[in-house]
Amino acid sequence: MKTRMILSFMACFLLNLGATTWRPIEAQCPVCEEKNEFASIGSYGNYIYQWPSKFQYIYWPLTDAHVLYSCQKCYLTCYMWDFRRIPKEKIAKLKEVLSSEKINREDTSFYRDIPMTTRLDVAEKVYKALEKTPDFWCTFYRTYAYHHDSAGEYEKAKQARKKALELAQKLIAENKNPGTDKELLLISGAMHYFLENEDLAKKEFEKALRLTYSEPQREESYNKGFDAYLTELLTEYINNDEKASPLREKGKRLVREQLKKLESQTVEERIATLQKETTFLTVKIYILRELSFFEAQDEKLLPAFVYALKHKNEEIQIEGLKGLEKLGEKSAPAISSLIESFAEASPEVSKYVQEALLKIGSKAIPLLEEALKNDNDNIKKNAAQILQKLQK
Ligand SMILES: [Zn+2]
Repeated sequence: MKTRMILSFMACFLLNLGATTWRPIEAQCPVCEEKNEFASIGSYGNYIYQWPSKFQYIYWPLTDAHVLYSCQKCYLTCYMWDFRRIPKEKIAKLKEVLSSEKINREDTSFYRDIPMTTRLDVAEKVYKALEKTPDFWCTFYRTYAYHHDSAGEYEKAKQARKKALELAQKLIAENKNPGTDKELLLISGAMHYFLENEDLAKKEFEKALRLTYSEPQREESYNKGFDAYLTELLTEYINNDEKASPLREKGKRLVREQLKKLESQTVEERIATLQKETTFLTVKIYILRELSFFEAQDEKLLPAFVYALKHKNEEIQIEGLKGLEKLGEKSAPAISSLIESFAEASPEVSKYVQEALLKIGSKAIPLLEEALKNDNDNIKKNAAQILQKLQK
């Protein structure tokens, strides 16, 4: 069963990556009777269970902006499957709740284009009025966190994950069917993980892996298949497999977070961020590329480019060298650092070092001549080549 399930996942995944489709429908609002244009699910496949949102234990269509309908007149906002199933006795209460709501739809005629963050806030009030179960809320807040994360609203995402975690733990404590603890522990661990408590996450995952999923009302084949799926996901989490790593997801998020912070930073602050050990390489490269545009502040930029030159990562070295080349003669204080870098530089990087020294020009000659006496062959060879070009 396990192999078959995985194989069918794989086949769908390879053949049909991302091919979920939607079709237009019309639906009448149960609260105000307005006719709305919405979208309904056309097609999808098992591959959705392997998409990276699985690490937050939520799945398409919850990850898709089509999923949350919103009435254009009264703003009733809820999941597509609930829109036609609003209990009659709740309508008066919903009218009251929605009377103070207003979603600005000036530039968005189609519901899908209203930000998910806006719609989720209204949906939260709607579902409170509908008095949903803790199980519902646990999923709701994971979904809420997922969309706020994507929109860069990290604090709201964090608060929502705390709620989802609390609910999962409450569900575990009150669980009358220990057979389903495996799933709840996975959820609890995943929330710990995304709240950056990796040790606590790992403890939950390890506990979960020792259990077998079973729900008495379900058929044995379903329970077996689902148990295999949970085991696979838990194992991926614990092993931090590079290909499917949740860390990669987390990394992407942290990179986005760091890039967002840069927007409001001055040149000095950016240079300080560049030199921080906790700054991601992608972010460092981004800073270096952007710095080259601050031409008026050349003298401030020099230390940043020298820092990059001495960095152990080659891509960073190259960005620093491009910056030094652009500064031209003003890079003169970096001459000795440039010459020394030949000792360790790859042939690729050496080319950039040569370019930077050539741009500095005659000011580099005395130190280059001295370098001819250096013990390091690379330094000697490169210095000789540059001198030859400079003295032509
Ligand atoms: Zn309505």
